[in-house]
Amino acid sequence: MKDELISKEVRTSLKKAFMHLIEPVAIEVYTQAGVNDSFNETAVSFTKALPELTDKIKVQFHRLGDKDAQQRSVERSPTILIAPDKFNIRYTGSPSGEEAASFILAIMMASTGKTHLSGDSRKRLERLKEKRHIRVFVSPTCPYCPQQVIFAVSAAVEKKDLVSVEAIEIFENPDLAEKYRAMSVPTTYMGEDLLSAGLQPEDSFIESLVEGRPVEYVMPLGREDMRDYDIVVIGGGPAGLTAAIYGERSGLKCIVLEKANVGGQISVTPVVENYPGFAQIAGKTLVDLMAKQTLEYSALLQGVGVNDVKGKDGIFEVSTGRGIYRAKALIIATGAYSRKLNVPGEERLAGRGVSYCATCDGYLFKDGKQVIVAGGGNSALTDALYLDSLGAHVTIIHRREVFRAEDRLQQSVFQRNIPVEWESIVEGITGEKRVEEVSLKNMKTGTGKTLAVQGVFVAIGYEPNNRIAKKMGLTLDKEGYISVDAHMRTSLPYVFAAGDITGGVKQIVTAVSQGATAALTVFEDISNPYWKKNPYPISPAG
Ligand code: NAP
Repeated sequence: MKDELISKEVRTSLKKAFMHLIEPVAIEVYTQAGVNDSFNETAVSFTKALPELTDKIKVQFHRLGDKDAQQRSVERSPTILIAPDKFNIRYTGSPSGEEAASFILAIMMASTGKTHLSGDSRKRLERLKEKRHIRVFVSPTCPYCPQQVIFAVSAAVEKKDLVSVEAIEIFENPDLAEKYRAMSVPTTYMGEDLLSAGLQPEDSFIESLVEGRPVEYVMPLGREDMRDYDIVVIGGGPAGLTAAIYGERSGLKCIVLEKANVGGQISVTPVVENYPGFAQIAGKTLVDLMAKQTLEYSALLQGVGVNDVKGKDGIFEVSTGRGIYRAKALIIATGAYSRKLNVPGEERLAGRGVSYCATCDGYLFKDGKQVIVAGGGNSALTDALYLDSLGAHVTIIHRREVFRAEDRLQQSVFQRNIPVEWESIVEGITGEKRVEEVSLKNMKTGTGKTLAVQGVFVAIGYEPNNRIAKKMGLTLDKEGYISVDAHMRTSLPYVFAAGDITGGVKQIVTAVSQGATAALTVFEDISNPYWKKNPYPISPAG
């Protein structure tokens, strides 16, 4: 085993996790020299290390073309099968980077037979009567991918005779990516058909699997999953996670409901350099630390989207595809989503070279591919620097003659000589099956030109994720952000908001500060400590 592949710290936590294994798990690794050699080496070293950590895992190594490869229909190098006599779980490619997490969880599920699906999802799966083959295209840098793979593997464990799953490393299998026209991750196919571009909530994924077609909105099955909390926090970014830590530390029972995976925008920020205490840290790493700390105090669910909130008998009822959660107070920390360019070709080529997540998709452009980044703020410059560091040829397209981004980032962009098309906008994106060209217009001269590119990274700011706030009738400002007072109270009693959904400077430090303020105000408002008077003359949820 290579020491650098699995650190001492990770080995220790894996050893601990593997103590929960029940049934022995057979792992078969298939490789062929001359194809994806460096990835073969990683796959072999990684899997070879596992039996050193537990006697429950046995690994066998095979060559493509041998008897077992033929029997198991393995034709790609590297391929890893988990418990192939029992389940249909296949990794086509080496499970490195982010994907190592889903791989370890897949082994745990295969051994224990226990999945991470909710009771509702397992109930829904009982309706599945036909076979389903799920392919999820993933990359080592994609923070959303492991969760989508875990949903699919969970279904393959729950319904072992009907569901088969294949996690495909997109960079190692360019021909498959080409065949399925997958140019972003995670992209999921059911059979030959596109199921989803991006991570789905658990209930949508399971319902789609059962129905055999993409299903976006899922009605909750019933009220049996109803649970009581003091605070339901909607949104698992830095604001929501901090709110839960502070809420629980004040003695309030909290749950965080996150519709995708924890972290929000920072989980896809390549590098964060302005969060005190960390001179430089990957956004995903920072978020993992926050989530770990949150879990020491509070319940935290990923892949659980909120459909509706109703006030009833002084209590809020928050309905999700996973059931209903009841609370005395709500903290809305739903953040913001990427703004679109709204130009011809953008929607059609989204996931075909148009991307809103450089961290997820940048890897595909790393070998000298031509890409543009649209925007002039912190996100655009951070993304451009990340793509440049991967080896892509980046051009920034900015509509003004100066950047909005902080000086530090500007200096880095200038030092790296990243070209900029100043005072220019993207007017259209063309390409038959994938992005081939962008047309630009210079705002000053009115002249147009085209650039041959394979990737278009859009980083032109965010729009507030205010669907729930609107549904509840909260007062919003003119840009759609939730209006709050200095204590993070909104226009409705016992409803609070924190983080980017409140507008403002949208920094991680301000998000965590607002999350803390919101939770401490909830404490004062619902616990009525002796030093405060309840500001509301009415009961919770009115
Ligand atoms: P932003 O600061 O709002 O910047 C958006 C950029 O996109 C601006 O340069 C804007 O141009 C341009 N733009 C907006 N709409 C456009 C359109 N339709 N066509 C072309 N260009 C358009 O957004 P952001 O960079 O995503 O940052 C959002 C927030 O997150 C900020 O508060 C930022 O500080 C924070 N953030 C922080 C970090 C960090 O600290 N490491 C990293 C990323 C983001 P104009 O300049 O002309 O308006």
